[in-house]
Amino acid sequence: MATTLLWLRNDLRLADNPALAAAIEEGNVLPVFVLDPAAETGGASRWWLHHSLAALEADFAARGGRLVLRRGDAAAIVPALAREIGAVAVHAGRAHEPWLREADRRVAAALQEAGIGFHRHRSALMFGPERITTRTGGVYGVYTPFSRACFDAFAPRPPIPAPARLAAAGDPGGDRLGDWGLLPVKPDWAGGLRASWTPGEAGARARLDAFLADGFGEYDRQRDLPGVAGTSGLSPHLHWGEIAIDAVWRAAVAAPGRDAARQTFLKELIWREFAAYLLWHTPDLATRPMKAQFAAMPWRESAADLAAWQHGRTGVPIVDAGMRQLWQTGWMHNRVRMIVASFLVKHLLLPWQAGERWFHDCLVDADAASNAASWQWVAGSGADAAPYFRIFNPVLQGRKFDPDGAYVRRFVPEIANLPDKYLHAPWEAPEIVLRGAGVRLGASYPRPIVDLAEGRERALAAFAAISGKA
Ligand code: FAD
Repeated sequence: MATTLLWLRNDLRLADNPALAAAIEEGNVLPVFVLDPAAETGGASRWWLHHSLAALEADFAARGGRLVLRRGDAAAIVPALAREIGAVAVHAGRAHEPWLREADRRVAAALQEAGIGFHRHRSALMFGPERITTRTGGVYGVYTPFSRACFDAFAPRPPIPAPARLAAAGDPGGDRLGDWGLLPVKPDWAGGLRASWTPGEAGARARLDAFLADGFGEYDRQRDLPGVAGTSGLSPHLHWGEIAIDAVWRAAVAAPGRDAARQTFLKELIWREFAAYLLWHTPDLATRPMKAQFAAMPWRESAADLAAWQHGRTGVPIVDAGMRQLWQTGWMHNRVRMIVASFLVKHLLLPWQAGERWFHDCLVDADAASNAASWQWVAGSGADAAPYFRIFNPVLQGRKFDPDGAYVRRFVPEIANLPDKYLHAPWEAPEIVLRGAGVRLGASYPRPIVDLAEGRERALAAFAAISGKA
């Protein structure tokens, strides 16, 4: 019986895993995960990865298999391991992240030299990004026609059940997960993450089932309300491939419910696809503005303002609530991500790359594609971006999307006793109201670190200075 190596990356699951199915078809499978420093995995993602791998190890063990863990340069480790176990082939899911593409290139060359096959399977995405082109063979720069092309062409695979048994394929030895130091200690800041998430394939499936049973039917109406659990919470599971995009799509298509809700949800899955597509075609998406004139943006430098934003101490409640939700749970509601990002790059005029990096470190769903594409979208420098001059007013956004203040009260408890009327703009409250609510501006809760009207004008002036520049 031949032996194959299954190189797991962002596909940490057994069901609906085409690379695993193909590897089994060919012989006994040795699954390996390589922790590669080139991945630059952020803090919250490292926490997630630890638990996801622990779940996967247990899932393999329950079927008679064993997940091998190795640490270092994946492009060197994978071919060496394949040779060591006498593998006839290496199977993996296709990846779109720049570092993995580079690793794939090196692995492919090494395996070819060794006469070992290297097969990559569509896994993380609906399409290989190179497959979606405009009618003239070009690259889409705008979401809507891209999404139409996806809707027209996508046919999810039929389900691939998880294998019942896996024959052991040798034991080359590897690291112990606990030795990787992925979990935070001193301080252990992961309490809120533990309370919020169950990483792993079973957790992903449970999250999808819960959403379909409750939330999905009202998705189009509730997805913008951060005070309501109106979205799926699938993003970290999708990022690590604990559930297949095909499985989520199939389930959403089959679930009972209003079509408007379903269509809105499917369109969000295509935003994820669009981000990956952009990253594929623009590998430096996280650092370089897609619109060249934004390179000349006169960004400010202010370590104090950046720190206030990062720690939810800006004095603008919806912004602070979002940044604290991120810090405490490793996740932030999409509407609030847009508000806090807009506040950073526009009202504070700080570079979007600083926000991207903070999100990358703090998000459990940190994704090279979705994070960078979204930051560029908000900053105005990205593909099909929001026009720069459309500047979110965080007070109006708060009043519109958190009208009863449930979200702000949860994450900014020190102003929870303010009446709704002033909750999103405490500085407008008369002194007697503040006192009645136990709020002392500048002491128990900060005054705004920027005057919203002045910040807006400053941003517009900065934008005017670069518009017209090629
Ligand atoms: P749902 O509303 O249930 O949507 C279902 C799935 O669709 C999500 O799990 C996600 O995979 C995808 N999706 C939804 N909205 C978007 C979107 N706008 N762009 C791309 N995919 C989307 N998403 C990430 O997965 N990782 C990131 O690092 C990330 N960074 C972001 C940074 C900023 C500044 C902004 C504005 C958005 C970012 N997003 C990111 C997109 C979006 O906020 C999250 O995908 C969403 O909030 C995840 O919650 P959910 O799973 O409940 O989403």
